[in-house]
Amino acid sequence: MDALLKAEGMNTGYDQLQILWDAALEVKAGERVVVLGSNGAGKTTLLKSLVGLLPLWSGTVEFDGQPVHRLRIDGRVRRGMAYMSEVGIIADLSVEDNLRIGGYFSSREKLKSKMEAMFEEFPILKERRQEAAASLSGGQRKMLAAARALMGDPKLLIMDEPSAGLSPLLVTEILNLVKSLEGRNIAFLIAEQNIKFLEVATRVYVLDSGRMIFNGTVDELQRNDAIRRAYFGVD
Ligand code: ATP
Repeated sequence: MDALLKAEGMNTGYDQLQILWDAALEVKAGERVVVLGSNGAGKTTLLKSLVGLLPLWSGTVEFDGQPVHRLRIDGRVRRGMAYMSEVGIIADLSVEDNLRIGGYFSSREKLKSKMEAMFEEFPILKERRQEAAASLSGGQRKMLAAARALMGDPKLLIMDEPSAGLSPLLVTEILNLVKSLEGRNIAFLIAEQNIKFLEVATRVYVLDSGRMIFNGTVDELQRNDAIRRAYFGVD
């Protein structure tokens, strides 16, 4: 099967500081790919350059068979990439209005039915639909970020450390959310340092100091002694 997302030779960073070194990555339709990496490994940098928030110094990104690395983020979103981030949530706007922004490219009818679908998926958002996003708890804000990203009917949902700042219970909720979307033909690319996310992964990359040092299944990862010791803290 052809890759939905295919990135090759990605080099980038900030000013003179190179962070990503020749990174390559592929996500096929419906796959759930987890990029594991510790603090500062370059996960956010990788995702930002895939989605168009950070220009590449060199390298290519293809999405759905088309080169997208010269497009801005809105062009990539229109083609079916979604980036789940709390940064884009507007604190002063209501839950509903934040969702409306997520469905920006949809027709009015579609917007309405998508919003209803999201309220079904996330009842807590329905309950609080009129309230300002600022009043949501950390976990609810993640739900809003996920729902907002899903409003655009993406083919690929890119999540940057969804577990950051969440209690173990809420991490389980996020994992359940990913599981519940199985079968909807949405591919996931999740950058995480929490190995619990391997539960939902169909394939794993390990990013270390801006370099991809592993690409394989969870089983293969667990059989890889060096990486197991480094990431699972076991001998
Ligand atoms: P974290 O888990 O801390 O978010 P990460 O794997 O997402 O880590 P990045 O945020 O991509 O890592 O950061 C990789 C490196 O790039 C770090 O050394 C960080 O200090 C540096 N960096 C990130 N953003 C900037 C920036 N805007 N300007 C300069 N350096 C940056």
